[in-house]
Amino acid sequence: MTDVSLPRRRGLPPLLLAILYAAAVLLPLAFSAATGEAHRQISMQAAAATGTVAAAMILLQMVTSGRFEVISGRIGIDVTMAFHKWAAPLALAFALAHVAFLVGLPDAERPARFARRLEIFLTADSLGDARLALILLALLVVMALLRDRLPMRYQVWRASHALGAVALVALLVWHVLGDGRMGPMGLALWIGFGLAVTLPALWIYAKRLTRPATDCWTVAAIRKVTPRIWEMTLENPAGQPLAFRAGQFVWASVGGRRLPLHDHPFSIASAPHERQLRLLIQEAGDFTSSLAAVTPGTRVGIDGPHGSFGLGDAPRGGLVLIAGGVGIAPILSILRDVARRGSDVPVRFAYSVHDVADLIPKALYRPALKALGITPLLTATTGTGDGVARGRLGPEQMTQLLDGLDPARTDVLICGPGPLMTSLTDTLAGLGVPLSRIDYERFSYGAGTLSAKDKRRLGAVGLLFAALTAAIAAYSLA
Ligand SMILES: Cc1cc2nc3c(=O)[nH]c(=O)nc-3n(C[C@H](O)[C@H](O)[C@H](O)COP(=O)(O)OP(=O)(O)OC[C@H]3O[C@@H](n4cnc5c(N)ncnc54)[C@H](O)[C@@H]3O)c2cc1C
Repeated sequence: MTDVSLPRRRGLPPLLLAILYAAAVLLPLAFSAATGEAHRQISMQAAAATGTVAAAMILLQMVTSGRFEVISGRIGIDVTMAFHKWAAPLALAFALAHVAFLVGLPDAERPARFARRLEIFLTADSLGDARLALILLALLVVMALLRDRLPMRYQVWRASHALGAVALVALLVWHVLGDGRMGPMGLALWIGFGLAVTLPALWIYAKRLTRPATDCWTVAAIRKVTPRIWEMTLENPAGQPLAFRAGQFVWASVGGRRLPLHDHPFSIASAPHERQLRLLIQEAGDFTSSLAAVTPGTRVGIDGPHGSFGLGDAPRGGLVLIAGGVGIAPILSILRDVARRGSDVPVRFAYSVHDVADLIPKALYRPALKALGITPLLTATTGTGDGVARGRLGPEQMTQLLDGLDPARTDVLICGPGPLMTSLTDTLAGLGVPLSRIDYERFSYGAGTLSAKDKRRLGAVGLLFAALTAAIAAYSLA
């Protein structure tokens, strides 16, 4: 690339984030090891350790919700949300282990003891906050895992998730503070921890209520570009362009609504050098299906840019851009950006849709292709069109895209339906493209197939939680 004046990539590197996370989770445990009195029974020590770790993990869920660039700026929203999703059931498992260690196992020699302990947990007034917190945590986890199958609007689920999370944090801190053995330093630690994770999240909401005029854009034009995709062009009345890296996304709330509850994430389809901001929005549910009612002049709150999808450093050997369906949005931004800045390496572009009518107008990408001197690889499963091959993107097309490139030095960016991205990632890895050079972004946080890259990340998260479990064991046996 000839021009390297990109906005700085915000956020912390993944390894540092993992270390900070582990340190934050283990801080209260280390504090209690240093200052607290050890229990005589191992099971009670284990109960204290699992409870402390569970509480810290639950509190940290507040800051892994995808809204903080310091966290998701480098690792991306995909990884951040996956981590948020995986950490919650593990926190629940530690919380249940906490209860199990407290109640203990049924003992044939002393059957009354187990029954008495269970009764205390289930009925004692002093444990009401703990019971409520456990029920709330289980509800939040189950409702998040089953979200796609719940007969509930996404926004209602989101509101209940946010309110439930705040209530859980309050209950949890209250429960922890109720531990009579804690000194003033311990109290201060937990109150500080609770505030440190809650205030930034509340700040996001507060900031919206006082959103400056520069964050409010207006719709300059809106039109349908395929049977299900709208192109919304926005301009900033204050004339301030948005500084972003091609591939990033914004949270947009249409109609001057201020609460983040009305925000929807959309990738920016225009290139950073363009004055107007363009979004390509596919009809998917309540909000996206109501775009026919949006008219020029409508206010749109923009929070962004966010995300890490896109080109990191200048590609060394080649650049392959692959889009599926509405995943064309960030790919289009990258393509136009690369075309404008010029490329020192060969660029390849593939775009696949279900029906040929779902292809966005060629005028949106043809000038960039012309500038780069490349022929697109277009495919559609149904219908016929000029230069559009019948079928899906698969191994044959990936081999074609890599033809003449050194796979080991080629960067690949993919955006499209989850199964397409995971299968193409695995295919490309099999053809010699290093996983570290393949980047993709999901448009849905729901469960889906895992690529070799996802499995590698899952392995890293597994190691992190194995380390936490080892710390619990060490504390319990000390
Ligand atoms: C990083 C990212 C970039 C995206 N870029 C684009 C894009 O460029 N073009 C495009 O058409 N779509 C994009 N999406 C998807 C888009 O955000 C959803 O389709 C849209 O929010 C659906 O809203 P709805 O009210 O119409 O549908 P709903 O019926 O409310 O939701 C349908 C599904 O969309 C998802 N969704 C809804 N609201 C949100 C939300 N606030 N946050 C996260 N997910 C949500 C959920 O998975 C939900 O099940 C992107 C998603 C993400 C995460």
